[in-house]
Amino acid sequence: MAFPSPAPAPALYDAPKLAKAFYSATTFANTLSTFAAIAHSVGLDDLPVAERYPVLRDACFGHMRLRQIFRQHLDPLRAREGYASAPCTGMRVLVLGAGPGGLRTAIEAAVLGAEVLVAEKRHRFSRHNVLHLWKFMVADCQALGVKALAPRFCRGGLNHVSIKALQLALTKIALLAGAVVVPGQSVAGVSAFDNDRERWHVEPEAGTELAPRVADFDFDVVVGGCGSAAPRLRGFTSSTFRANVAIGITANFVRRGSAAESKLHEIPGIGRQYHPQVFNAIEAETGVALENLVYYQDETHYFVMTVSRDSLVARGAVIADLPSIDALLARDNIDCDALHALCMDVALAATRLLAGAELPEPEFALTARGAPDVAVFDFTEISYLDASARVELARRGSSERSLILAHVGDALLEPFWPQGTGASRAFLSALDLAHMLVRLAGGTPVPEALEERERVYALLSSTTDGNIRKTFASHTHEPASRYDFVPPPSGRDVSDLITSV
Ligand SMILES: Cc1cc2nc3c(=O)[nH]c(=O)nc-3n(C[C@H](O)[C@H](O)[C@H](O)COP(=O)(O)OP(=O)(O)OC[C@H]3O[C@@H](n4cnc5c(N)ncnc54)[C@H](O)[C@@H]3O)c2cc1C
Repeated sequence: MAFPSPAPAPALYDAPKLAKAFYSATTFANTLSTFAAIAHSVGLDDLPVAERYPVLRDACFGHMRLRQIFRQHLDPLRAREGYASAPCTGMRVLVLGAGPGGLRTAIEAAVLGAEVLVAEKRHRFSRHNVLHLWKFMVADCQALGVKALAPRFCRGGLNHVSIKALQLALTKIALLAGAVVVPGQSVAGVSAFDNDRERWHVEPEAGTELAPRVADFDFDVVVGGCGSAAPRLRGFTSSTFRANVAIGITANFVRRGSAAESKLHEIPGIGRQYHPQVFNAIEAETGVALENLVYYQDETHYFVMTVSRDSLVARGAVIADLPSIDALLARDNIDCDALHALCMDVALAATRLLAGAELPEPEFALTARGAPDVAVFDFTEISYLDASARVELARRGSSERSLILAHVGDALLEPFWPQGTGASRAFLSALDLAHMLVRLAGGTPVPEALEERERVYALLSSTTDGNIRKTFASHTHEPASRYDFVPPPSGRDVSDLITSV
C-alpha cells in the first residue's frame, strides 16, 4: 500500500479558528489534519524540540477550551517537581501504536522533554467498546485534560469511556504536549544496527510504505504498544497463564438518545455466582448460559459477556463443535447470523430484567468495515512478557550508541477483561517506563535502571484499583508515588537484558 497523502488542511488562517477546528475534531484524521494546519502556521517542525511547546501554546491560546487545557492541565503537569527541568531532553522516543498505553507513554515522555514520535497502524479510531476505569485512571485522565476533550468521559454513575473517545482525546493531548503522531504506519519492528548510518530504523510490515518522518526518525528508545495480538519487539520472551475456557462476546447497538432509551440504566459487571436467579432467567428465555454481563451506555449501547461454549453450540453460533478453542472460534466456524441473534436475545432479556426497560428499537452499530459490531473472542490464555525492557549496545571504535527496547500495555501484560484492568495497567506501565527513561537520562547505569524497571514490573499484575495509592494528586512517573511498596534493589543480574550488537 502506498503511503496516503495527508488529508488537506482546512482553509482556515487565523489561529483561533485553527485551534477551534482542532479542538472540535471528532475523527483521528481530522485531529491530525487540523493539528498539521496549526503546526504549519507557526513553523512548528522547524523549531528545536524544546522551543515547540511555548509556540504551540501561543498558537492555541485564542481558543478558550484549549487555553484551559494548557493552563489547567499541561502547564501544571510540566511544572511538577521532577518534570520542570525536562529531564528527558535530548532523548528520542519512538512509540509503536496509538492505543491507550502508547499514547500515555507518548504524553509522559513529551512532558518530560523527550522528542516523541508515535507510529500508528490505523487511519481511524473505530473501537466502540467501553472501558471501565480504575479511580487511579480517572484521576490521571482528569489531570491530563481528557474530560475537556471527551464529553462522555465518566458521565453518569459508572466510570467508563469508549476506547475510540479515549484514543482521540489522548491523541490531542499528546500533540499539544509536543509529540508527533503518524497514522497508517504498520510497523514490524526495528532494524538491526545500521553500521553505515550508525542508527536503528523502523521496519515496516509488508505493504506499508513508511512516512518520511518515521523512516528518518533517529531514535534511542522504541516502545512496543501495539496490543496483545501484534508481534513483540525482538529479544523478548513471553509466558502464558491458562485459565478455564473463557469465551467473551461484545455487542454494540445504535444509541439514538430517544426518550425510550433514557428509561434504561446501566448494568455494572455482575456475575452468575452472586445473581444466579437473573442468570437462570436469561438462560431460560434465550438458551444462553452466561457467567457475567456488563451493559454500558456510551456512544453505543455496549454489552460484554462471558458465554458458555455449550450455549454457542446450542444456538448454532458455531458451525461445528470443535475441540480446540481456536478452531471453534475461527472466523469460518462462526455463523454470524446465529451469533447476532444470540446477542440480540441476550441484550433484550438482560435489559428487561436488569436495566429497567427493554432495549428499544435494537439495531447493531457498525464497525469501520460496515459490519454489525459483534465480536467473539477467547480469553482462556493470558500472555505476559518475561521482562519489560532490554537494551542493545552498539560500540563502534570509540563511539557507542544504545537502544532501549520496552513494552507497555497489553503488549506487556495481557489483561483478563472481566477484571477491567487493561487500560489502567497500560497507564501504569507507561508511567513506570517513563521513570526508567528519567533514570537513564539522569545518568543511572543501564544495569541499575533495568533492574529497577523489572522490580517495578513485578508489581504490575497484582496492582488493583484497591491497592494503588489513593493520593492521586501526588502521582508521578516515580513508582513510589503510586505503589504502596516498591521492593529494594534485588541484586538481580540483568546482563541477559543487555545485548552488544
Ligand atoms: C472485551 C474487552 C473488554 C475490555 N474491558 C476493559 C475494561 O472494562 N477496562 C479496562 O481497563 N480494559 C478493558 N479491556 C482491555 C483494554 O481494551 C486494553 O487493555 C487496552 O486497550 C490496552 O491498550 P494498549 O494501548 O496496550 O493496546 P491497544 O488498545 O490494543 O492499542 C494498540 C494500538 O496499536 C496499533 N497497532 C497494532 N499493531 C500495530 C503495528 N504493527 N504497528 C503500529 N501500530 C499497531 C493498534 O491499531 C492500536 O491503536 C477490555 C478488552 C476487551 C477485549
